[in-house]
Parts: sequence; C-alpha cells; structure tokens
Amino acid sequence: MERYARHLVLREIGGPGQQRLKAARVLLVGAGGLGCVAAPLLAAAGVGVVGLVDPDVVSLSNLQRQTLYRTEDVGRLKVDCARERLGDLNPHVQVEAHPIALTSETADGIVAGYDLVLDGTDDFATRFAVNAAAYGAGIALVSGAIERWTGQVGVFAAGLTRDQPPSQRQACYRCLTPEIPPDAETCARVGVVGALAGVVGAMMALEVVKLIAGAGEPLVGRLLIYDALSAETRTVRVPPDTACPVCGGVSAS
Ligand SMILES: [Zn+2]
Repeated sequence: MERYARHLVLREIGGPGQQRLKAARVLLVGAGGLGCVAAPLLAAAGVGVVGLVDPDVVSLSNLQRQTLYRTEDVGRLKVDCARERLGDLNPHVQVEAHPIALTSETADGIVAGYDLVLDGTDDFATRFAVNAAAYGAGIALVSGAIERWTGQVGVFAAGLTRDQPPSQRQACYRCLTPEIPPDAETCARVGVVGALAGVVGAMMALEVVKLIAGAGEPLVGRLLIYDALSAETRTVRVPPDTACPVCGGVSAS
C-alpha cells in the first residue's frame, strides 16, 4: 500500500488499476536506451511480470544513455544486469530474462504468454518480427524509436482489434512502415542524444500504464513525434492499411 500510495490516490489508477498492473505480464524487446528507461519504470509501477529480450552485452558506448548499467557491467549480459537492478528496485516484480535475439523464427515463442509488448529496438527486421508476433498473439504493441534529436512513440492495437469489423480495426506497425526505409540509419552511425532515450522510454512506460489501468487515451492509432532540438511535439494519425502485409486483408469476407 505504501509503495504504490501515489498511484492509489490517482482516480485513473487507484486500487483496481494497481491490481491490474500486478496481474499484467509485459514483454520489453530491447534492453538498450529505451528499454533501460521503460523497464525500471514498469517494475517500480508494480507490473507483475516484466520480460526482457536482448542478446547483447553492455559496452562502454552504451553508458551514455543506458543508465540502468554501471561501468563495471561492461561485458556482462544486459538482461542479467537489468534483472538484478529491477529486483533491487521492486522485489515483488518477477523478471523473465530472454538473452536471445528476437527474429521472425523466435518471436512467436518469446511473445507467447505476455499481455503487452514494448519494442525499443533500433532495427527494422526486429521491429517487423515483434509487430507480426504481437498481431498474431492478439495483443497491443507499444513502439518507440530515437535517432539523433528526434523520437517517436505510438501504440499499435491491431492485435486487439483484429476480430472487429473493418471500420473498428486499428493499425499495426507495418501499416505505418510497410517496408524497410531505404534511408534507414542506426544510432551507432548517426548518433543520438542520451536524454532523448529518457523522454521516449518514459513515454512508452506511461502508455503501458494507461493501457493496463484503462486510464485516459493511449496513443492508439496515433504517433507522437518529438523534435528535441526545437522542443516541439506533434501527433499524427496512423490509420490501418487494408494493403498491410501483416494485418490487411484479414477476414476479407
Ligand atoms: Zn498493419
């Protein structure tokens, strides 16, 4: 009661919302800049089970923004370090570490059993695999991305609405990005300002709390774009695409 006191007094969360957080199983793909921010916020919020997927070890260049890790962690598996830190933060949370790469072959097996997926990875092949698995599992995807000074976050609820009439379906990530953009860049090449990971990772965690507690209006069908250099945000609609290779053409009857 004391740990979650600031949630319990919120009308939009309260006791019922906190119980829903405790019952939730949330999978976080990528324990990098975004995952390092979202994971401790979800653990602190009392999400019952937090799954972490990342095959990588901590490197020195990660520490500029991946603040869950310490200098002495360099060379250790990220999911092992993260599990220790989250356990210290909130021993009531069960952390499930998956030190493997999520690919189109492994995605369905990893995602199975979770209620919600966050994607904080930085390559399109992985994002596409996470999106297809979330859609297949009938769950929502909270997606975040950062590059240079720009970040974006969106909630793709196609999995939740796949059995609805076409007029009530929501977009998936592939409706927004049908193919890998030819100009796709990585943060390793073009850079990223560290604090931007804090902004976008925290927004991802916040959207998860809203979705689970049923609070407010999550970014379903919308993409929020944050331009850090000008300190401005804009939100664009993301409609479902009937030609989408993942969610289009389903139940075409
Ligand atoms: Zn789609």
